[in-house]
Amino acid sequence: MRKDPVMPAREAALALARKLHAAGHEALFAGGCVRDTLLGREPKDYDIATSATPDEVTRLFPKSNEVGAHFGVVIANHGGHAIEIATFRTDGSYRDNRRPESVTFSNATEDAKRRDFTINGLFQNPDTGEVIDHVGGREDLKNRVLRAIGEPAQRFREDALRLMRAVRFSSTLGFRIEETTAAALAECAPLLDRISPERIRDEFSRILLCPRRRDGVERLVETGLSDRFLPELRATIGCDQPPEWHPEGDVFTHTMIMLEMLGTDVPITLALAVLLHDIGKPPTRTVDPDGRIRFNGHDSLGAEMSDGILRLLRYPNQVVEDVVTMVARHMQFMNVQKMRVAKLKRFMSAPTFERELELHRVDCASSNGFTDNYEFLQNKEAEFASEPLIPPPLAGGRDLIAMGLNPGPRFKELLDALETEQLEGRILDREAALAYLRRHADET
Ligand code: ATP
Ligand code: MG
Repeated sequence: MRKDPVMPAREAALALARKLHAAGHEALFAGGCVRDTLLGREPKDYDIATSATPDEVTRLFPKSNEVGAHFGVVIANHGGHAIEIATFRTDGSYRDNRRPESVTFSNATEDAKRRDFTINGLFQNPDTGEVIDHVGGREDLKNRVLRAIGEPAQRFREDALRLMRAVRFSSTLGFRIEETTAAALAECAPLLDRISPERIRDEFSRILLCPRRRDGVERLVETGLSDRFLPELRATIGCDQPPEWHPEGDVFTHTMIMLEMLGTDVPITLALAVLLHDIGKPPTRTVDPDGRIRFNGHDSLGAEMSDGILRLLRYPNQVVEDVVTMVARHMQFMNVQKMRVAKLKRFMSAPTFERELELHRVDCASSNGFTDNYEFLQNKEAEFASEPLIPPPLAGGRDLIAMGLNPGPRFKELLDALETEQLEGRILDREAALAYLRRHADET
């Protein structure tokens, strides 16, 4: 089990690198941590690349984990951090568009070249801070360019996950994708079919969670990558809507503006629900004889489509369930001001409500600009804040049995009706609740 960090990750990695160095091996910070340091970002984790073989690494760090030793990777724990120590290597031929068949241990130059993008191919001497650049990564970092190392199409054919990584890095870092690399993305997009849904999902989520998620999704569509795992999205392009409600344009544009309007720190369920809330529009679109455009039932069809899409991507059940609920209910926000109190309280008591409210906010802000329902709900939240939306029941099934009723479907009807009275504020105590049940018990 990993212990809590007792020192910064960089310090822990530095200690390991020094030990390798003292034993006569080359040891460099490598990849993402060098990139992030040079960008002034906090690296997620530190990786070390070394001339030591996995055996030599394991001998120096006996408690390390050798599961990846076959590929030259050993994970050492120090100061509460798990640090990857990878032997310089050249990857052999790729069999399945994902993993090399074999690896050969080599030197730093070769190790830089097997990495995916120039900005990920940098090394840094941990002691002196000197950056070692065999692939032109420093220049690309400076110009904010994402460029494949070597021949882009070949690199994507070797490992098709790099297609998703390219879009992910370009959107999380805000880098433009160099032209040849971009062209190869489009050319190789179909290869994504060989990648497991879980891996696609993880990259896709990172794109949706970053503040430039709109750029990311647009890039996925432009390159055709989204067609491999979210083909339904393309039909939203050119799916035009009534201009009086949607002056911003078609369903795709509307959705992209919403993605952009979300805050920086949002749950994945909210980002997914925004992306999918109108996914049912293209297949439900009809035009009346007078030219009026309708999308009847797009919410329930959209919920069903979202369920299918997210299950194929292997999102956890809870994520699927929440997103489906949010998509299914998004049109109900238009009616909240007409709801009876009990209905409104039940509506607001859904665990997804806060996220749905935010979806509703950006749904309006990106189109008609209405804020009345949003403000109404905010006021209601304040008004209802002093007590639970759904208070503990004043009476239950036992009381009905005590009145001589036999358990059955009628029980739920009676108790739901009682709850409505309670939510509406017409019944306030147990006395009144029992009287209500007695009065209605013999009705059929
Ligand atoms: P982050 O950790 O923020 O996702 P990272 O660059 O550290 O970014 P990792 O997946 O942790 O990415 O990989 C570490 C390094 O290993 C990368 O910087 C890159 O040099 C190399 N690498 C990772 N995945 C691939 C791949 N699919 N093909 C080629 N090189 C890769
Ligand atoms: Mg990393």
